[in-house]
Amino acid sequence: MRRKFDTENYKFSQHKECEFFPCHKVKDDSGFNCLFCYCPLYMLKDQCGGNFKYTNGVKDCSDCFIPHSTKAYEHVMSKIGEVIRIGSDKSESQIIEK
Ligand code: SF4
Repeated sequence: MRRKFDTENYKFSQHKECEFFPCHKVKDDSGFNCLFCYCPLYMLKDQCGGNFKYTNGVKDCSDCFIPHSTKAYEHVMSKIGEVIRIGSDKSESQIIEK
């Protein structure tokens, strides 16, 4: 059973003491989300829904700010089922979705 909270602090984290903060150039870093420092959707290739390009065949996410936005959690969670499916040794029908 999931616990209910009045807040959603788990969706946003900022680490201003990080030597790389902010790791992407932005005008205003007040909403810069560090929750997904490395994007968990990279493995989804062209299905991640982000603003990537391929440079010499390598996926380049330099221009994508989705994982560092205030809506990062929603976007990543909307795709995480596919990441779990790819990484699982179970068939799709064996994976229980909540
Ligand atoms: S950073 Fe953006 S483009 Fe790169 S994998 Fe994540 S969502 Fe896709």
